[in-house]
Amino acid sequence: MLDVREIRQDFPILKQKIHGKPLVYFDNAATSQKPQVVIDTISEYYQVYNANIHRGIHYLAEQATEAYENARQKVADFINADKSEIIFTRNATEAINLVALSWGRDNIKPGDTIVLTELEHHANIIPWLMLSKEIGCQINYVRIDEEGKLDLVHLNELLKKNPKLLALTHVSNVMGTITPLPRIVQLAQEKGVPVLVDTAQAVSHLGFNVQKIKVDFLAFTGHKMLGPTGIGVLWAKKEILENMRPLLGGGEMINEVSWDEYTLNKIPWRFEAGTPNIAGVVGLGRAVDYLNDVGLYTIREYEKELTDYAMQMLLEVEGISILGPKLAEERGALAAFTLDGIHPHDLATVLDAEGVAIRSGHHCAMPLHQKLGIPASARASFCFYNTKDEVSVMIKGIRKAIGILGK
Ligand code: PLP
Repeated sequence: MLDVREIRQDFPILKQKIHGKPLVYFDNAATSQKPQVVIDTISEYYQVYNANIHRGIHYLAEQATEAYENARQKVADFINADKSEIIFTRNATEAINLVALSWGRDNIKPGDTIVLTELEHHANIIPWLMLSKEIGCQINYVRIDEEGKLDLVHLNELLKKNPKLLALTHVSNVMGTITPLPRIVQLAQEKGVPVLVDTAQAVSHLGFNVQKIKVDFLAFTGHKMLGPTGIGVLWAKKEILENMRPLLGGGEMINEVSWDEYTLNKIPWRFEAGTPNIAGVVGLGRAVDYLNDVGLYTIREYEKELTDYAMQMLLEVEGISILGPKLAEERGALAAFTLDGIHPHDLATVLDAEGVAIRSGHHCAMPLHQKLGIPASARASFCFYNTKDEVSVMIKGIRKAIGILGK
């Protein structure tokens, strides 16, 4: 059982008031808050052992290198991967771009197809659109149904065209849909199609085990999983990484250099040119420890109940329609919705005055909003430090907004 009162003590930002009201932070899908231990870990690096990694043999350099590589091990263990397969990037976006610009350029040819889905965040659309414009490949999107679930019959049809890649989200940041990855990966594997999964919205809520769900590439981002901004992860199978070209050249990624030639370093360092975000990596490692201490099972159970409760309460408000699957079981910890006659930005403004932070807009999923025929939606997204009482505060705020802005 999760003791939410105790958990909340770990997150200093939650203690503050916004516009004189206790902060209700429901914008966790945009970025999560950070526990004190993560903040302290970052500050400790700068205060106690700040040094560049891998190059120095002095005490601080060794301490910094050890902390950096220990964090890589923690991230690897978190998704049940080998340490050499963890590449640190700036964020999930950069991880996906790295695949598109390196693996994609070498493996996708003019006339080839790539399969994405209608659920994707811009981070998993634009890199492929850029690639398609560069090399002349085609992109097909797996359709979703009314509830925001993927049409697996359509997926199968698209897989029959022998695409070079299937790239899809684990949890939609708008519909909340959890995509049925075990089944999807099985279908793709039957056709020999590599799979990239964007687990930015899922890895800290549902976990990911690359030994169980045998995808080829996995991308996620530190700041949505209690870690700092500016740090993300690309995981890929060793055989793939061994044959993938680095995107950036410079220090760290080489073995030997002459005026005319260079040899590449081993993976993963081959893909980490220049001084990396050392503070970000150690902070992310500490965030992973924290998630493990709370426990992913406990987190999922708590967030599922909270999401279910929030959905029930939202649906009691006249004029609210929730996007995505009806069952909390089938969705991540978020609920995006529309409210008849009130623009999401106006709703978010009224809620902000009540201390409630929600997101309004297209949530970096413009094509999906176009498909749904709505310009924008409001989104409440949760973390295990949120409570049912906070949901009640939001609902009261929504009713207030209706009083002020409604017809
Ligand atoms: N993928 C999904 C599903 C997201 O929701 C987001 C961010 O909202 C991203 C990718 C991109 O994350 P980042 O901006 O950290 O690269």
